[in-house]
Amino acid sequence: MSESANGQVHDIVILGGGSGGYAAALRAAELGLSVVLIEKDKLGGTCLHRGCIPTKALLHAAEVADSARESGQFGVRATFESIDIAGVNSYKDGVVGRLYKGLQGLVKSKSITYVEGEGRLVAADTVEVAGTRYRGRNVVLGTGSYARSLPGLEIGGRVMTSDQALTLDYVPNRVVVLGGGVIGVEFASVWRSFGAEVTIVEALPRLVPAEDESCSKALERAFRKRKIAFKTGVRFSGVSQTDTSVTVTLESGDSIEADLLLVAVGRGPNATGFGFEEVGVRMDRGFVLTDERLRTNIPGVFAVGDIVPGLQLAHRGFQQGIFVAEEIAGLGPAPIVESGIPRVTYCEPEVASVGITEAQAKEKFGAENVESYEYNLGGNGKSQILATTGFVKLVRRKDGPVVGVHMVGARMGEQIGEAQLIVNWEAFPEEVAQLVHAHPTQNEALGEAHMALAGKPLHAHG
Ligand SMILES: Cc1cc2nc3c(=O)[nH]c(=O)nc-3n(C[C@H](O)[C@H](O)[C@H](O)COP(=O)(O)OP(=O)(O)OC[C@H]3O[C@@H](n4cnc5c(N)ncnc54)[C@H](O)[C@@H]3O)c2cc1C
Repeated sequence: MSESANGQVHDIVILGGGSGGYAAALRAAELGLSVVLIEKDKLGGTCLHRGCIPTKALLHAAEVADSARESGQFGVRATFESIDIAGVNSYKDGVVGRLYKGLQGLVKSKSITYVEGEGRLVAADTVEVAGTRYRGRNVVLGTGSYARSLPGLEIGGRVMTSDQALTLDYVPNRVVVLGGGVIGVEFASVWRSFGAEVTIVEALPRLVPAEDESCSKALERAFRKRKIAFKTGVRFSGVSQTDTSVTVTLESGDSIEADLLLVAVGRGPNATGFGFEEVGVRMDRGFVLTDERLRTNIPGVFAVGDIVPGLQLAHRGFQQGIFVAEEIAGLGPAPIVESGIPRVTYCEPEVASVGITEAQAKEKFGAENVESYEYNLGGNGKSQILATTGFVKLVRRKDGPVVGVHMVGARMGEQIGEAQLIVNWEAFPEEVAQLVHAHPTQNEALGEAHMALAGKPLHAHG
């Protein structure tokens, strides 16, 4: 057993170099704290290597395929031939590789002690990696998440999670996607654009069930048009596979044959087996519990990212990492409001939201105190140019601020930036209506929705 740097006690020892962990490390180093960052696999974690970035590269390739296929409607003669999956994968891997290199350089450029290896919490202030102990006045747990399955549903062969789906070297002809949440609908969208027949199976009554109901309806309509099949409110009962196919059976008695089954039923916390329970960290169903300042029940031990119950999103992890570093440095940062975290589902069409849904607002404030308005993208010039449909829906407290923005449409994810300022700065529609939105942009749709809700609609029909 050896002790790091002659028994040195660091300001902060971070376990896990994903979005949460590396953001904490970078911010802590900026603030002059001494930092140890421990990572057993690749710096950047799920988001960079198996999550956000590679999936969005696939979605972009999918968009290019759609553009080629649909070019005729814009008066451009092009033909879609086929997907060169090796080419798609090399483009995707190139994007990930460049960002990985950049991130490694960034961490190297700061005074961060980067340790490769699996760490284990052996005391409230100590993490051990391959026999070396790293002591910290503060420890940050950021070990992330893994793709969950269902009881009795074994991953292997033609039954896979997003991890394997991202490295496929062929385009399947027929796919069943189990789970109509964010990851499920994004893969469904990619495969459909690549030419596959796709069926989504979702146990809850609608696709993207965490979103405002209007967004689910719009996405379902769009998917129907794209001939992406989906079965909602129906549960999976079993799967069998041969060398060439899978047969998925449902509790309804239906069965679906396909080339592969993608299991996208959510992500579980990767927080067991690293000594957390043994040291006495309070946990619930595998998640590490924290207060709003991201402190666990053990003084000096914090947790960030997907192991903390709540939205499993990279930018939440970044912000939590920054928060913890600033908290440790004594800056007293303001707690992160979970509902103010923007959410984007990058399928075609995109779904983007921030704040609370109309149903949540009615429950919170009483139905009579909530007003909503749906601005149809039919009145938005740029959306017409792009040939996309959808809407911007606003939810406000009557005579009060906007508490939720919910959007559907191609590229509408890009509009979440202003939407999140509006919700988090508690803007009134009347205030946003005074601001000028450039014409012709999809961003205008946000402005128009606020104008309409403020009682002075411009290009709003009905
Ligand atoms: C397919 C997919 C698509 C996604 N798309 C998006 C998206 O578009 N936008 C978005 O915001 N989010 C997206 N996410 C979610 C996002 O990837 C996660 O929210 C984010 O990565 C969580 O960060 P984290 O730091 O908590 O964990 P992780 O990124 O999982 O990082 C944890 C790190 O800890 C390391 N580790 C674990 N245990 C130990 C140990 N004992 N010792 C040393 N190291 C350890 C792991 O190797 C890993 O690198 C997606 C996820 C998936 C799977």
